[in-house]
Amino acid sequence: MFNKQTVRDVDVRGKKVLVRVDFNVPLKDGQVADDTRIRAALPTITYLLDNGAAVILISHLGRPKGEHKPELSLRPVATHLEKLLGRPVTFAEDCIGPAAETAAAALEPGQVLLLENTRFHPEEKKNDPQMARQLAALADLYVNDAFGSAHRAHASTEGVAHYLPAVAGFLMEKEIRYLGQAIANPEKPFTAILGGAKIGDKIGVIRNLLDKADQILIGGGMANTFFKAQGYPVGDSLVEDDALETARSLLADAGSKLRLPVDVVIADAFDNAANSRIMAVGPIPEGWRILDIGPETVANYAKVIAAAKTVVWNGPMGVFEMPNFAKGTFGIAEAVAASDAVSIVGGGDSVAAVKQSGLAEKITHISTGGGASLEMLEGKVLPGLAALRDA
Ligand code: ADP
Ligand code: MG
Repeated sequence: MFNKQTVRDVDVRGKKVLVRVDFNVPLKDGQVADDTRIRAALPTITYLLDNGAAVILISHLGRPKGEHKPELSLRPVATHLEKLLGRPVTFAEDCIGPAAETAAAALEPGQVLLLENTRFHPEEKKNDPQMARQLAALADLYVNDAFGSAHRAHASTEGVAHYLPAVAGFLMEKEIRYLGQAIANPEKPFTAILGGAKIGDKIGVIRNLLDKADQILIGGGMANTFFKAQGYPVGDSLVEDDALETARSLLADAGSKLRLPVDVVIADAFDNAANSRIMAVGPIPEGWRILDIGPETVANYAKVIAAAKTVVWNGPMGVFEMPNFAKGTFGIAEAVAASDAVSIVGGGDSVAAVKQSGLAEKITHISTGGGASLEMLEGKVLPGLAALRDA
C-alpha cells in the first residue's frame, strides 16, 4: 500500500536534509498550546540526527496570507522543540533568502535549524517554482513528514520535491499506511462512522466509502439533512437545503448500508443550558433542534462497532462541545475504544472529541491531519505524497 521511499531508503549521513514538518500548532500567549504535531515529527527528526544528518525544518503556521505576521512566527516552536529534543535549535528569520541561506550553510551534522513560516511568502501557496528552487538550494535531500499539509500542492510541500531527491518521513509513512490500508484493503467487516456538521463537507467521503465499507453509521448534523430528505420536518436543526438532492441519491444508492439514528436528543435552544429531551426520530417540533444522537442509537451502533474488524471514524455525533450533547459522541468513542478492530480517527474536531473522552490511548491510529485524512477517505491522491520517490 505504501509505495514511496522513506528516510530509511537513502543515505543521510553528512547530508543537509530539508524536512517539511507540520508545525501548524495552536499558540497561546506566545507559547505552544498543544504540541501533538511537534511530537509526531520527533521520530523522523531524531532518526536523521542520529544518522549524521544536518536537519533543516520548514513549516507553515496559521494563515498569514503571504505577509510577515509576527504573531504567526514559528520562533516559539523552535523554543519548544529545543525542550523536546534536549538540544539547541537555531532559528532563521526567513525560509528563503540570505537569512535561510547563511543559517543552512553553517549547519553541521547533528544540528537543527528551524526556518520561519513558509506562508509569509505568497509564493508558497502558489507553488511558485522559484520559491521551490530556493528552498531546494538549502539542502541535499528533501523529506516530507507533513501529512497534515500533504493535500496541498504548495512550494514547500510539493514544488520543492521536484528539485531534490524526495522521500517520506516516518509520520507520513504511518498515516498513509493506516488510512491507505483501511481504504484500499480493509479487514472486514469495515464500519465507517460519519458525523460532523455538514453533509456538504463529506459527500466525497460518503460516496467513496459506499463502495468500500460494510456499514456506514451516520450521526451529527449531517443526519438532519438525511431526515429532511426522507420527509421529516427537522424544526430548527442545522440542515443543508442545497444538499437534499444529494442526500436522497445517497440514500437510494446505499440501501441498508447507510444507517441513520433511530433516536435523537433535541433542545429548545443552541445552548448547553437549554431544555432538552430524547425522542424517537420523527417530525421535530418547531423551535427545537437536534443536537445529539440518542441512547438507543448509541447502543445499536455500538453493536455494529463491536463486530467490526476495521473502524474509521470522522465527525462527532453531536455538539460535543456542550456537555449535555456530548453523550452520543463519547458513547461512540467508548464503543470504538472497546472494540478490537483496527480503529482510525481522523478530522480536527473528531480527534479533539476523542482526546476529551480520555480514550485516545485505546484507538489504533489518531490522524494528525484533518483535511488530508478527509481527502484520503475521499480516495483522492495527495500531491505532497505523489511527488515523493516511488519505492
Ligand atoms: P471534523 O473536524 O472531525 O471533520 P466537522 O468539522 O465536520 O468534524 O464537524 C464538527 C462539528 O460538528 C462540531 O463542532 C459539532 O459541534 C458539530 N455538530 C455535530 N452535530 C451537530 C448537530 N446536530 N448540530 C449542529 N452541529 C453539530
Ligand atoms: Mg472540523
